[in-house]
This record gives sequence, C-alpha cells and structure tokens, in this order.
Amino acid sequence: MLNLHEMFASLQGEGPHTGRPAFFIRFSGCVAPLCPWCDTKGAWDGGTDVSVEHLLGAVKDSGHRFVVITGGEPLLQWAAGLETLDRALFERGVEVQYETSGKVRIPEGIKGEVICSPKYLSGAWQVDAVSLSRAHHLKFVACEETISSIDDFVATHGLEKDRVWLMPMGMTREEQIARMPFVWDHCVKKGYRMASRLHILAFDTKKGI
Ligand code: SF4
Repeated sequence: MLNLHEMFASLQGEGPHTGRPAFFIRFSGCVAPLCPWCDTKGAWDGGTDVSVEHLLGAVKDSGHRFVVITGGEPLLQWAAGLETLDRALFERGVEVQYETSGKVRIPEGIKGEVICSPKYLSGAWQVDAVSLSRAHHLKFVACEETISSIDDFVATHGLEKDRVWLMPMGMTREEQIARMPFVWDHCVKKGYRMASRLHILAFDTKKGI
C-alpha cells in the first residue's frame, strides 16, 4: 500500500513541463533533515493507505495522460508499490514526471522522467552522485546567497548545463518577480535553464491550486 496525501488535476507550475495539464499524485512522508521553508508541510506525515489499483483507477478516471508524482518525498514509496505503479503507468502509455528532493536515491530503471530539486541544508546540497546521474533534470532554488554554491556544485559534479534549471527563490509573487532578473542574467551567463513557479505568479500565496 502507498501512503497518499492528495490527488488533483491542475497545470504543472514548475520545471520543464511548466504550463502543461497534469494529474498530480502527492504522497505523504519526507526524510530528515526537513526543510524549514517547505511549502508542503501538510504532507510530512499522516496520509491514507491506497493500493496501486486505486491510483491507476484515479488516473484513468481523470482522463489525463500526464501524471506528476510528488510529495513529501515520493520515492520513499518505491518498495511499497510505487515501482509497480511506475511500470503500470508506463505500460499504459501514461507519461510520468517525478519531483524528488534527492534525499532518497533515485531507483535504477525508473520509467518516469525524474526532476530532482536538491535542498541546500547545513551548507551543502543534499543529494548523492548516483541520484545526480539518474535524474533527467536538476532544479535548484536560486537566490543571491545560494548562487555561488550552485555554480560550485555544477562544476564539481560536471553536470551538463542543459540539465540544470534555476528557479528564483520566493514564496510570494512579489518575491518571485523581484528575483527573476537576477536569475535570468545568471542563466544567460552560465548557460543554465530558467524555471519559474507559474502557480505563484498566477495565484500568489493561494493554496490548493
Ligand atoms: S524535501 Fe521537499 S517535501 Fe521534504 S521538507 Fe524539503 S521541501 Fe518539504
């Protein structure tokens, strides 16, 4: 059984698929150290046990052919049924995108596309080299304080620039917009890609989008 927090249809607000209609499956549970700025604290614990069949039925009923699997930390559910769900969706021709923190190693052979957003905690980006090699895209939250550590991390690990996305730090529309020129200029200079948080630009701090 998998530990579900919520499911809903929306638009993907972040990363390479920004603006794309999607069915979201958010699992409960995360891994210490937890991030003080986390915007999904409600998914840290609790949740409802559901079967793979239940989730496959929900995806089918939604009519969507693109599913975003997120959390909390969704890869905590791998052995509990997520591996089976990953394969089943792939076999049904449903496109899957994972959003992971990299705090759990990305499994070998995962079928969906993996967007890893490493967290900067205790002065370091919390992700191992194996997960870095398995992630399709790496999304870093950028601000004036973290930008040099991102550059150092990318150089140290030899990450291909077109796999690296910078997203302006900011929990509000005002903060996002204010930081966009800084991140834009840095992406131009370094050859990174730039991501926004479209749901925040559209709705500001409103929840349940
Ligand atoms: S890894 Fe993600 S879900 Fe977990 S505490 Fe950090 S921001 Fe929140």
